[in-house]
This record gives sequence, structure tokens and C-alpha cells, in this order.
Amino acid sequence: MLLAEVVETSRRIAATSKRLEKIDLLSALLKRLNPEEVEITVAWLSGATRQGRIGIGYALLRNSIGEPASNASLEILQVDRALEDFTSIRGAGSDARKREALQQLFGRATREEAQFLSGLLAGELRQGALEGIMLEALARASGSSLEHIRRAAMMGGGVASIARAAMSQGETGLQQYEIALFRPVQPMLAQTVEDVSDALESLGGEAALEYKFDGARVQAHKSGDEVRIYSRSANDVSIAIPEIVEAVRALPARELILDGEVLSLDAQGRPQPFQVSMRRFGRKVNVDELQQELPMTPFWFDLLYLDGASLLDHPQAHRFHELANLTPTRNLVPHLETESPDRAEDFLHQALASGNEGVMAKSRHAPYAAGARGQSWLKIKRARTLDLVILAAEWGNGRRQGWLSNLHLGARDIEKGGFAMLGKTFKGLTDEMLAWQTAELQKIEIARDKYTVYVEPKIVVEIAFNEIQISQRYPSGLALRFARVKRYRPDKPASASDTFQTVQKLAGIAQ
Ligand code: AMP
Repeated sequence: MLLAEVVETSRRIAATSKRLEKIDLLSALLKRLNPEEVEITVAWLSGATRQGRIGIGYALLRNSIGEPASNASLEILQVDRALEDFTSIRGAGSDARKREALQQLFGRATREEAQFLSGLLAGELRQGALEGIMLEALARASGSSLEHIRRAAMMGGGVASIARAAMSQGETGLQQYEIALFRPVQPMLAQTVEDVSDALESLGGEAALEYKFDGARVQAHKSGDEVRIYSRSANDVSIAIPEIVEAVRALPARELILDGEVLSLDAQGRPQPFQVSMRRFGRKVNVDELQQELPMTPFWFDLLYLDGASLLDHPQAHRFHELANLTPTRNLVPHLETESPDRAEDFLHQALASGNEGVMAKSRHAPYAAGARGQSWLKIKRARTLDLVILAAEWGNGRRQGWLSNLHLGARDIEKGGFAMLGKTFKGLTDEMLAWQTAELQKIEIARDKYTVYVEPKIVVEIAFNEIQISQRYPSGLALRFARVKRYRPDKPASASDTFQTVQKLAGIAQ
């Protein structure tokens, strides 16, 4: 199929605000694709490429786009091959060869195709909102149930990777993505809400509340004596935390997959700061020594698999009940099931008073689902924080002369695309952070003027703030008051940062 058909579908999807129409358009396109075009196209229309991050900066893109071709001739497979070749260009003179390769590709693209491709390669095609629509379109086009498509996407590493099997074999093709030991499941994520009453209300009046620990998310897999612990990004971290491996090995089940948070507690049993707990990861030598100094404790909050059976489809209440039967209380997340906003508020205070970040509120009826769709897990913190993306940084003055300091902060706009600027801050940055960001931001620079370096929207920072104000200062119409940097979030890609729509909700100006 020609790229032009994909581009036209993408244009028509962007032009309508009707969800069903978007699904119709996508599903019609999926049905017309050849099997080998399916994964590529699904990835593109979800805002990604099959090759993952290609590492094409704005400057390179800008220099590669010349006169548009007058006729559409590029085929999907040709573009994919060009991207594949592009990713293998390395070594001396690679910049020039990359430019040449891109110029060749863009030289054959019409104006609309070039726009689509540059948006795709710069990571700017609308994301997030499209993912749910893509899942539904794939279910429709392949004649499979939406639940099974979701499940397969969660297990198989995303919607693009499973699309071909779904389109060519339907439900039968999806079976290969069933949950399996030692194949990490993408973790379920949470959305931010302002307070516990909001959380109870949006979960239908009742919720399971749990302490929200500020440690490292882990998934533990056990089969007999064999135990592996995976990080949030699916890396095997077993070597770094042997005491967690031991604790899991000792649990009274033959096979299981557990989801939880591990952290280091101080002598009084209070959580150590996040940075302190994190010292245990990435350590391969002298593990023993550090283990003595900073022993880690697991707090399990979910059970995904038990003795040959998947629990993913069971409601949270059932999964937690089974979990509580298995784990010693000291390793189970402190929890409360309640309908009462007052009791929930007390529980939040108790969580904060014992040194935690806040609480999670979970729907007791919800299955386990990757990502933050469906709003079944909600997080409530005290100092409100948002995960925002750095759009630019200004050079500092005085003591900070020569360092990139004041950060421009943006939230992903999943309706309009791009980022909505919400403010600037240089507060909370240590000298070490200033040095780091000065180096890293210039690596992803796209432009600069006398005061400011503009960067690709890639780096996520966690920003604490006191209030969201209505403000004319930025086109977004909103600004954060008393914004300060809490920490960088290298574990989060920009596509997982908080959205402008969430910020609007927090500000009380949208439903
Ligand atoms: P955030 O990273 O701020 O979006 O919050 C979600 C993260 O909170 C999860 O990925 C876990 O690492 C962590 N977390 C801490 N306690 C819990 C809990 N009780 N349930 C789920 N996630 C938790």
C-alpha cells in the first residue's frame, strides 16, 4: 500500500473529533493492509515506529526536507526499510550519511507525506489518545474481543507488536500472548486525582486504599526455587536485591507473579528517601556491603498469577485477597477498604505521617490492565506533583552563570497535539542537577537564542507545586504557582508524562 493512504487516514482521523468515526477509519485501513504492512502502520498511527527510537533530531529533519515530490509513490514497506537502514548507520561520517539517507527519503515524499514523516520521526504525532482507539479498531478489524486485544497488547509489548497476529489469525493468533512466567507484564499505572473524596467518587463510592510508597516498582516471578525480579522497564534486577529474591522464594506457592514496590526502611521503620533506596539498583559488585547498609523491604500490592492460573481478569478485591493469604503482613501494602471519605482522609494522613508519598485508590472491581487506561488506579499525594516535559532552559545568572537553569515546563496536549507550557522553574535544582541538565539538554538542542536553549521534548521532570492558576502568561491559559523540581524521571518517556487535560481537571476547568 502507498504511504499516501496512511497519511490520508491520519489526516481524516485528526480532522474528526468523533471517536467512532476515528475507529471506523482505522479499522477500514487495517483491513486493506497486507500482513507485512500491519505492524508498521499500526506503530506509525500510534505515533511510533517499529524500530523504536530512531534518534532523528529537529535540526537533521529540517535540513533534510527539500522540494516535495509531485506524485505519491512511496510505499509503506519502502519507508520502513529506509528507517531500518537509517538506524544501522553508525561510525565515522555517520551524520552526513544520515542526512543523505533522509534527503533521499524526503525527496520522494509529497508535501503531506513529508509532514507526516517529520511529525512521526520527531515524536510529535498525536499519541496517548490514539492508543485506545487503535486497540478498538484492531478488535473491530480482526473480529477479536477488545479485552483479548488489550490483554495481548499488554503481554506482547504493545498494540503494534500484536497487530499482525490479530489481523491474520484473529483470536487464535492472540493466544501466544497469554501471561507466562519469566516474561514481565507491562505494569498497570495510575492517574493523578486531587483528593481522596474525588477518588472515591470516581471509583463509584468505594475503593481499596493503599499506602503509596516512594520506592522502586518491581515484578517478581517464581517457579519453584527459580525467582526473578524485574524492574518497571522489564530489566532483570535480581542480582541487585538478593534479599527480595529470598523473600519471594520463601512464599508458600509453587508459581506466582507479584507486583509491588521495594524500598529501604530506616532503623525506625520509616521509608528512606527515594534517592537512598535507589542506590541499591544498578549495583553488581559489593552487593553484600550495600545490602547490610540499606536492606530492602518489599511491599506487595498485587498478584497476577498463581499456580498455573492467570488472575489478570479477576477483580482487584479477589487478587488482593489471594495475595494477603500468601504474604506475611509485614510485606503486604497497608490497605483499607472503605466508602467513607472521612476514613479515607484519615488513612491518607496516616500514610503521610509515616513518611510515605500519599495513597493509591483502586477500584475493587477492576481487572489488571497495563497503562493508566480506565482510571481504575488513582494516586493522591500531598504536595501535588506533575510529571512534565522540559521544553527549553534559560542560562542562569550570578552563581548559576554558565549553567542551564530556569526550565520551561510543558504538559502533553492529547487533544491538540504538542505541549502546553505551564511555567518555568529553577527551584529545587542542586549543583549536580544543574551540571547534568546543562550537558544533557544541549545534546537535544533544537534552537537557541541569547537567553534560552530550546530542546526536543524528551526529558521528564517531577514538579511539585502549590496551586494551578488561571493565567494569561502562557497560551495554555494556566500556570503553576511555586513550581519546584523534585527529581528527573528517567524511567518515564515523554509519552507517559502527565497530560494538559489532567492539569485542566486538577485546575477544575474541565470534566
Ligand atoms: P507514579 O510513578 O507517580 O505515576 O505512581 C505510580 C507508581 O507508584 C507505581 O508505578 C509504583 O511504582 C508506585 N506505587 C507505590 N505504592 C503503590 C501501590 N500501593 N500500588 C500501586 N503502585 C504503587
